[in-house]
This record gives sequence, structure tokens and C-alpha cells, in this order.
Amino acid sequence: MTVQNTQDVSMEDIVSLAKRRGFVYQGSDIYGGMAGLYDFGPYGTELLNNIKKSWWKANVQLKPNYVGLDSAMFKHPKVWEASGHVGGFSDPLAECKKCNTRIRVDKELGAVGVTADEKMSEEELNSLFDANRDKIKCPKCGAKDFGPVKAFNLLVKSNLGDFTGDDAEPVYLPGEACQGIYLNFKNIVDSVRVKVPFGVAQINKAFRNEISPRNFLFRTREFEQADTQFFVKPNENKLAYEQIKKDRWNWYLSLGIKEQNLRWKQHDNLVFYAKDAWDIEYNYPDLGFDEVEGIHDRTDYDLSQHSKFSGIDLSYTDPVTNEKYIPWVLETSMGLGRAFLAVMCDAYTVEELPDGGTRTVLKLNPEIAPIKYAVFPLLKNKPELVAKAKEVYNLLSQKYMCEFDDNGNIGKRYRRQDEIGTPNCVVIDFDTLKDDTVTVRDRDTTNQIRQKVSDL
Ligand code: ATP
Repeated sequence: MTVQNTQDVSMEDIVSLAKRRGFVYQGSDIYGGMAGLYDFGPYGTELLNNIKKSWWKANVQLKPNYVGLDSAMFKHPKVWEASGHVGGFSDPLAECKKCNTRIRVDKELGAVGVTADEKMSEEELNSLFDANRDKIKCPKCGAKDFGPVKAFNLLVKSNLGDFTGDDAEPVYLPGEACQGIYLNFKNIVDSVRVKVPFGVAQINKAFRNEISPRNFLFRTREFEQADTQFFVKPNENKLAYEQIKKDRWNWYLSLGIKEQNLRWKQHDNLVFYAKDAWDIEYNYPDLGFDEVEGIHDRTDYDLSQHSKFSGIDLSYTDPVTNEKYIPWVLETSMGLGRAFLAVMCDAYTVEELPDGGTRTVLKLNPEIAPIKYAVFPLLKNKPELVAKAKEVYNLLSQKYMCEFDDNGNIGKRYRRQDEIGTPNCVVIDFDTLKDDTVTVRDRDTTNQIRQKVSDL
């Protein structure tokens, strides 16, 4: 029996299973698709929702000093000035003179071992690029002839509320989900019984005009982020930061992700206000280790900026000591698409069978599997078996996401459920009619046991 690890699998295997089995489809598929956009299918939606539920439980339900939020996506145009996105949220691009393909200069330089500092000006990037031009080929046509490096802003604009069409002050779609938390810091302190240190958790969409969306769900133009912002007293960041890092790491393990496929990476180029920054990386097929979540120690930058730009004092007064300060922020920001992809890649297993064939199994943690029980009548053409199977399905559906399937032979039905990661298949046969017992088949071992329906 062979079990593959993520580097024996190609992203193509995952994309193909995701499409074939209703997890993820290319966005606007019937119109030829749109780059960087994906739709979650029926099983993908279940899996995504289960990942979100698990995240919410770990970050809100089980943490007495965390509360949840769901802020509007559209925000006042000043928000993105205060956050630095209007001025500085850009990728350095260069265009191939031969085929017009645009490349991310920082990523291409990185691939040949040259680090482009985040703080570099356009001019500095151009000199660094010029010095390394001979090493960089166009990924499409192979030419080494590029135009100058230009900073390309990633924010996506909308015309919300703009009835004149002059685009004077565009309302942006969110470039990141966390801003809603900073905007509501004062509302939350004034309306809910929280005291610093406390955290706010939110799952929300983000949009970025990524020039080269790629690697399936890894780099898309529309995605969801699951963020927490933990507000602490200035200089009381260190211990809390270590605890948050530990908790986030353990959450991935609780999803069933194998520890050897995760690693930490510390940023060596910190933005000027940050104290520390670490990424949790996952070992994705084709890509290797890359970021799934960022954990950032951000000082008072966010609340100070919004105090300055809004004119509203966002400082906090300690109810016991009367000390007044702008809290520091410890942030965790996870891309849900990247977490979903990590979960799928980690669970994807191909096993050799004794008869020489293979089976593909998604060995998902049962807690996040889209379907918990698949219920099959042994034979489709025996009304009494079908009726009993429907009865069992209706009973289990009260508690679990279930699926009824009477199509094809049992072996084929098992294979389908293996591919979508269903932990248990329940078969209703003639004995069930006599003693109310069913056969329960385990996804991972394929062992079958006889059980009372009432014990399921
Ligand atoms: P990268 O360096 O890969 O572009 P980032 O450092 O810009 O990512 P952050 O701004 O810290 O990412 O966003 C937090 C999280 O959001 C990331 O860890 C990632 O999981 C997710 N994310 C960011 N950009 C994308 C994207 N284009 N597609 C999917 N997920 C993304």
C-alpha cells in the first residue's frame, strides 16, 4: 500500500479532483473562465464552511477574551489612505517587450536569489533589475527584453455611490479584511464588555489586482481572509505574540494537517512600524513551502493612523489605572483559499489495492469532511431497501451532513465517497429489515462492521 506525500502529487491532480468531484470550479467557466477567480462547488462549500467553523470555534468560541465581527466590505475612501494601501500597496511589474507578458519583478528576482527589499523605491528597483536582467527570462516566450519596472497598485476600484462618473474619490474593494476591525475598535470597546488585552476575529473577502494569479487557489484576485487582531498594552506584546503563534500552529494540526508539511518563516525585511513578523508556510505541490498565514506584531501603527486620518481619538483608557494609550496590535491573517488548498493537498492519498488497482482517498479529518455519512440501499430495485435507507438517511441528516446514493454497484459508490472524503458509508441490506443493523464501512481502513442504526 502506498501513500503519497504532497511532493509526489501535482497541483494538476488536485485541480482535477476538485473539479471532477464538485469542490472547486474555474470562475465563469462557461464563458471561458476568468483568471484568478474560482467558485466553490457543493462539496467545496461544505469543506470551506467546516474550516471556517473550526477557525471560529478556536478563535472566538474557545477564547473568552475574543469577540467576532462582520464589517461591510466597502469602506470610506480615506481608510485605504490611512492604511497605506493607496500610496504603497503595489507590486513592481515589468513587461516583456516581445509578447507583453507582465512579470512580478520581486518574485522573479527572488527566484534567481536576489532579494528586492519591500521598501525600495521604483528607481532603486529599476537599478537592481538592470543589474540582473541577464538572469531573468520571460516565463512565456523566453525573451530577456523587458521594459522599465513600474509600481502597479493592487487595489480594485468600484464606482459605488459615484453618480457623476468622475472617479474623483474611488470607493475601493477591500485589499485586506482586517481594516474593518480597526474601524470598529472604538464601537466594540464602547458597546461590549471587553478590556485590553482582547481580540477581534473576522472572516471577510479581499480583492487584489494580482498581475499573475496562479497555482489554483494559492494566488487569486478575489479571496477570503480569516483575521484576528489582538489589542495589547504597549510593550506587552512579546508573551502574547508567542502564545498566538503557538495557537495558530496547533490549529493547523487540529485540522489534521501533517506537521512535516508546515514550517515557520520569519520575515527579514520588516516594515518600519513592525516589531516582528512570521509566516506559517505549507508545502504545496509544485510550489513547495509558501505562505498560508501571516502573524504580525504591528505596534500602534493601525490605530494611530486611523486616529490621525479620521480625527477620532482611538486611544484606550484602562478602567482600573486610568492609563491612556493607543493599543498595540498582534495580527493573524490566513487566506482561506490557501488553507482549503493545504487541507485538500494534505488529505489527497493514492493507495495501491491488493488487486493491483488504485484508489484515491481524501483522508480529511472527519470533523471537516463535507459529508459525514453516505447511506446506500444495497439494491436500487428493492423498494423496501430504498425506503429503509431513506429512513436512515432522514434520521442521520438531523445531525450530520449526509448523502443518499443508490446509483451503480456498491464498489463504485465507495470509490466516489472515498474521493470526497466521506468517513463512513452505511449500507442497508435485507438483514437491516429484520434487526435494524447496518454495515458501516470505514474510509481509511475499508473495514466493515455491523452496527445498530441507533448506535450510529
Ligand atoms: P503574498 O506575499 O503571497 O502575496 P501577502 O504577504 O501579501 O501574500 P498578506 O497581505 O499578509 O499576504 O495577507 C494575509 C494572507 O492572505 C496570506 O497569508 C495569504 O494566505 C492570503 N492571501 C494574500 N494574497 C492572496 C491571494 N492573492 N490569493 C489568495 N490568498 C491570498
